[in-house]
Amino acid sequence: MSNELAEVDPAAIEALATELRELLGEAAVSTEDGTLDRASRDGSHLSPVIQEQLPLGRAQIVAYPATAELIAATVGAAVRHGVPITPRGKGTANYGQTIPMAGGLVLDTSKARTVHEIGDGYLIADAGVTMLSLEQAANKTGQQLLMYPSTANSTLGGFVSGGSGGTGSIKNGLLHWGMVEELWVVHAVPDAELVHVTGDEAAKYVHNYGTAGIIARLRIGLEPAQDWRAFLASFDTFEQALSVIRPFAVLDPTPRLVSADLATLAEALPADDAIPAGRASLRAILDVASLDAARKLVEDAGGRVEDIREGAAASMKLSMISYNHPIEWLQKAYPGTYFHVEVSGDALVDRIDEVHAVYDGGMLHIEAQRERPIGMLAGRYSSAEEVYAGFARLEALGVGYHNPHQWFVDFEPERTAALAATTDPQGLLNPGKLVGAAVDTGSQIADITDRS
Ligand SMILES: Cc1cc2nc3c(=O)[nH]c(=O)nc-3n(C[C@H](O)[C@H](O)[C@H](O)COP(=O)(O)OP(=O)(O)OC[C@H]3O[C@@H](n4cnc5c(N)ncnc54)[C@H](O)[C@@H]3O)c2cc1C
Repeated sequence: MSNELAEVDPAAIEALATELRELLGEAAVSTEDGTLDRASRDGSHLSPVIQEQLPLGRAQIVAYPATAELIAATVGAAVRHGVPITPRGKGTANYGQTIPMAGGLVLDTSKARTVHEIGDGYLIADAGVTMLSLEQAANKTGQQLLMYPSTANSTLGGFVSGGSGGTGSIKNGLLHWGMVEELWVVHAVPDAELVHVTGDEAAKYVHNYGTAGIIARLRIGLEPAQDWRAFLASFDTFEQALSVIRPFAVLDPTPRLVSADLATLAEALPADDAIPAGRASLRAILDVASLDAARKLVEDAGGRVEDIREGAAASMKLSMISYNHPIEWLQKAYPGTYFHVEVSGDALVDRIDEVHAVYDGGMLHIEAQRERPIGMLAGRYSSAEEVYAGFARLEALGVGYHNPHQWFVDFEPERTAALAATTDPQGLLNPGKLVGAAVDTGSQIADITDRS
């Protein structure tokens, strides 16, 4: 299906292009077709439901401001020309959040990657720096990030605006619970500038896709570095792997990551001798002090430890095949076959056969969390209706779910709408994503995001 795409008056785009070229330099502004196409895609290929609706929007101009101050100046120029602005980091968001649905300007932050300061327990960086380079920079000072996503090459601004958690979340929870200490945000006003917000005020800009302000610079918390090991184990059955998920979550010191897959999902991952064919796989990033306890848990459950690897790169490799990544690999192995739903709850362990039966070909990828496991439930795709019909069946099993097949802000939508009414009075920021509480997004978002 091809949609009629929204477009801004080309004369306004031309005028904005002239102003931005003056401000940022020729190389930092593009209206070239290939660039516009690339800036209009994100990770929504993960959803066959969204894929059926593509294209949902196309950029008319892309700008690459290289500092937080230039991000503010770029926003101001776009507002003065009445051009919608869709902020973009690396464009890996998997719900279509990064698609410029009203056309206009894609403000790509990926060149704004200065790390300004790393102190005891914190760092300050511009929005476009990647999570991977921040982790490496923190490591050099004997510290580590509180969390980073499996898309470790994505940007800090994009993760805070569109992501939720990942490696580090077993101990430190999801983004909404305190990684962000201070923000310098830009509102959609003609004389846009950096607005410094802290604490609860800063929290209002987290995970709402830039609809209330563009994040230009951030101060985030760090913790002391630990001596991590990449730990790979395998089991005859997925049930055996599941039986250690909750005990692994409470190992002391807390693991940075614990992921498990049944054999079919594990076989779709990149080849690794420690992920043997035909066996359920468990992969964890463990503090060296917890290795003996972890080995005992695996062996008592009938599994075997395949390998224990040293070095940051080995752990990062496990991060990059966690969370949504096994689903992406599954889709690569079986093109056009699978969709997924984000799920949570003890039923993922206690009622796995019933959970798998919710969808035809159901397969769970699971991640340990301290409160309750979370995961991605894959199923064979037939129609959007079938996907939605499964939500009631999940609910009946006591499984929390989040619908990854829609792009609306569904975390604190009313709070964001109230904020955006003052920070984006013309509705120019990432149009199409913020509908307040008006739309039923088919998610029990609280079940995925709440700590209580
Ligand atoms: C295979 C796969 C695995 C993933 N794994 C994880 C995971 O483990 N954990 C997780 O949380 N997410 C995950 N994601 C989702 C996504 O990759 C991450 O959230 C990532 O950190 C987003 O960063 P980005 O730079 O790509 O942001 P983008 O996709 O560019 O942007 C994300 C959203 O934020 C907005 N935005 C971007 N920059 C800014 C800014 N500076 N200010 C305001 N708004 C902005 C965009 O408009 C968009 O709405 C995964 C996605 C895929 C496809």
